[in-house]
Amino acid sequence: MPIGRGEKPMSIEVETLSGGTTTLDDEKLEELRMTFRGPLLSQQDDGYDESRVVYNGMVDRRPALIVRCSGTADVIDAVNLAREHGLLTAVRGGGHSVAGHSVHDRGLLIDLSGMRGVWVDPDSRVVRVQGGATWGDVDREAQAFGLAVPGGVVSTTGVAGLTLGGGYGWLHRKYGLSCDNLRAVEIVTADGRLLRASESENEDLFWGLRGGGGNFGVVTAFEFTAHALGPIVMCAATMYGESSADEVFRAWRDWAETVPDEVTTRAIFWTAPEDPHMPPQVQGRQVLLTAAMYAGPPDEGERILQPVRQFATPLVDLSGQMPYRMFQSVLDFFFVKGELSSYWKSLFMNELGDRATDLIVKHGLARTTPQTMVHVPLLGGAVNRVGQGDTAFGDRGAHCMLSVDGNWVDHNSAEHIAWVRHVISEAEELSTGASYLNFDSDAPEKSPDLVSATFGENLQRLTEIKKRYDPQNLFRLNANIAPA
Ligand code: FAD
Repeated sequence: MPIGRGEKPMSIEVETLSGGTTTLDDEKLEELRMTFRGPLLSQQDDGYDESRVVYNGMVDRRPALIVRCSGTADVIDAVNLAREHGLLTAVRGGGHSVAGHSVHDRGLLIDLSGMRGVWVDPDSRVVRVQGGATWGDVDREAQAFGLAVPGGVVSTTGVAGLTLGGGYGWLHRKYGLSCDNLRAVEIVTADGRLLRASESENEDLFWGLRGGGGNFGVVTAFEFTAHALGPIVMCAATMYGESSADEVFRAWRDWAETVPDEVTTRAIFWTAPEDPHMPPQVQGRQVLLTAAMYAGPPDEGERILQPVRQFATPLVDLSGQMPYRMFQSVLDFFFVKGELSSYWKSLFMNELGDRATDLIVKHGLARTTPQTMVHVPLLGGAVNRVGQGDTAFGDRGAHCMLSVDGNWVDHNSAEHIAWVRHVISEAEELSTGASYLNFDSDAPEKSPDLVSATFGENLQRLTEIKKRYDPQNLFRLNANIAPA
């Protein structure tokens, strides 16, 4: 029986910010039970185990207490509870953090998965999204009005973590990062205040929230500007065999230099899963997938994306005009919560010269597991047109990203992690030195230079904002920015 709805609770030991523990006794738990509308779950409660599962199967952690918030008032009370007792606190939106930031052993977990509402105003094209929604939730509601908000490429990913850390998808070259499409945010800061941040309210906070991650509080609502799109869009998804991978990757690279902003494209070295979602002729085979979406009239897109289908003779060509929502969820079957163990790292690159190309092809074809992806999204377009100092987001100038997404189902984690690190260390000198923090599996203490290398000149301002809004670093389970 959940503590929030049942019998008299027992006391709970919770880890504190200083590394010790504190006891939430029966009386305190009884008081919480009376206060919260959403359930409170501890290890004995039904539903506890499902509630602690996150995307990355390697992250098997047991919080002392999970507060599944039903609305903003629950979030305010949860933050006050965390601060007053100095509790080590994780915050969870969609639970897709590959670093496992959104769940922690013995701590408090503020879980927003019960807050997934989406409201669309078709006249103003404003889409309001609660802090625990996924991109699938947003796409479904927004497409009902012929609108889209730039999100990610897997529909189960959380809006919160993706947006606060930047947000690349199929529309970033046309409309910018997800965080570039934010109009306002409602957030509960460490002192328990509910604030609104926008270009004209708490502007410094709004600046920091666009790229600075979950460092400044718990976001209860996002307001995005949406764009007219779909329902049908032209998408390319062509799989080439191993023998033509080198030729195809070079052809894709050269073509990608020429495309208009309507085209967002990526190349992915992968092994097509033995799964009914994949055509039989590619199941279990190593492939180079070249994929793209055209954010404009589908017939025009058909012409402009034609080269993607003809870099060589493909094994299979799944390209065509299709509902935007369908393309947004084609990879969902592969990324099932808790099934894959994952260790990802990424680097931004200013160019794809021959050395970088050779390196990517070499490692792309030598992945240690079939589930691993070597993923190269083209950046640029609208992302690069926002000034480096206009938002907190790290590196905007890059031409593309190299993301080495180690995924596996066996028990050889050490080997697969070592391989991802090896590829990244070889690629480092060809990169800008910055990473996409949303595609990074290392906790800050394991990679101390990552945050500073990524935020560069924006770091100083971020540390000042952190000091103003979270001087005790209550929100530290993230790509952490230390208070100035
Ligand atoms: P969570 O694990 O819930 O949270 C991630 C971080 O955000 C944590 O630090 C957490 O504390 C904080 N946080 C969560 N909710 C809130 C909130 N309401 N307020 C304040 N802080 C909060 N990224 C892209 O840019 N594009 C993609 O296409 C893309 N695809 C992905 C596909 C998969 C399968 C996976 C696993 C990841 C993908 N990512 C992508 C990376 C993704 O952006 C990050 O993993 C992101 O952190 C996920 O957000 P979430 O809310 O699901 O994560």
